[in-house]
Amino acid sequence: MKIIIAGGDGFCGWPTALYFSERGHEVAIVDNCIRREWDKELGIHSLTPIATLQERLAAWKEISGKEIRLYYGDLQDYDFVRHVFEEFEPEAFVHFAEQRSAPYSMIDREHAVFTQVNNVVGTLNVLFAIKETVPDCHLIKLGTMGEYGTPNIDIEEGYIRIQHKGREDVLPYPKQPFSFYHLSKVHDSHNIMFTCKAWGIRATDLNQGVVYGLWTDETRRDERLYNRVDYDGVFGTALNRFCVQAAVGHPLTVYGKGGQTRAFLDIRDTLQCIELAALHPADRGEFRVFNQFTEQFSVLQLAERVQKVAREMGLDAHIEHLPNPRVEKEEHYYNAVHTKLLDLGLKPHYLSDELISELIQTATRYRDRVDFDVIRPKVTWR
Ligand code: NAD
Repeated sequence: MKIIIAGGDGFCGWPTALYFSERGHEVAIVDNCIRREWDKELGIHSLTPIATLQERLAAWKEISGKEIRLYYGDLQDYDFVRHVFEEFEPEAFVHFAEQRSAPYSMIDREHAVFTQVNNVVGTLNVLFAIKETVPDCHLIKLGTMGEYGTPNIDIEEGYIRIQHKGREDVLPYPKQPFSFYHLSKVHDSHNIMFTCKAWGIRATDLNQGVVYGLWTDETRRDERLYNRVDYDGVFGTALNRFCVQAAVGHPLTVYGKGGQTRAFLDIRDTLQCIELAALHPADRGEFRVFNQFTEQFSVLQLAERVQKVAREMGLDAHIEHLPNPRVEKEEHYYNAVHTKLLDLGLKPHYLSDELISELIQTATRYRDRVDFDVIRPKVTWR
């Protein structure tokens, strides 16, 4: 299949591009590497050393004999996006290329506006390019489970059957997002849903949980193929951050009570899910929604799990409850349906002590690269 991975220099996109290339698909990456600029802006860097995108692609060619094409540019630039579609004629477009940090979007007005413009305009440009150049292309769009918030009823997969005053309909599940970033994803979902109806676009919206882990079969093969690991207070996410903290002797930073429950998945399952979505495309005009995660945990449960494994490794990890910088419920009901990808054949990698131990070992190997000053959260929601 001819497939574009937009955001292919990022944490999810890079291993996804290698995974499809390894399986014989014709892959192109679209990225403007702006994530590396945000790292500079915030004075942060990946735990693991990462090669430049050009070095990564050259290394992949040398090691695998396979070529991944690069379109270097910004999804906000419509002429660029249209050119990519006209030239490559993708059968599927996997869209990871957004500003994806909730704290980054909450820094101030500029960062909120940038996040929403970058994400919403980028996705609109992709939708217009599909309509005008390759109308049969399947859009596989990364959304987030954070779009739903934490309602006091089960979270369904995209849609809910509602009875109201004696009538009944299947309607989009209500969205109660947590941040300007999560709101940008909700705006994207609405734009995509509308264009599926109006123009017959085929789209799959993947409401992904928090991704943990690092290694995939392909990224392990050479240091130049290593994936990034964010551990800082802006881009770092729960489990990976706790493992780095345990490795370097920093307290495990639980925000508030830690009863915040979220959906999670292993990065290897991100790749499987994207592959399943690509191999079973949505129909023309269909706006398909999958909840892309395998397990749910509270933040405190994850910290305790990392603490247990760290102690078995002889590390004295302790948990610190910080004042919560976010506005969110710290104790709540959470039960989200996630059967559609399992029905398509997803074989989950459930969270294991071995994976946590390997993450701690990786962080120990690169402990000299860890900057303690960027670990604690500095951005607040209030
Ligand atoms: P990332 O920041 O590591 O990668 C995003 C990539 O997109 C970067 O390489 C960046 O340079 C590129 N990009 C951003 N804006 C662009 C633009 N306008 N034009 C071209 N390229 C652009 O993020 P990630 O962790 O790989 O996340 C990828 C996607 O998955 C995001 O949309 C995110 O919302 C979603 N997601 C991620 C997680 C997670 O835990 N990482 C969880 C749920 C959903």
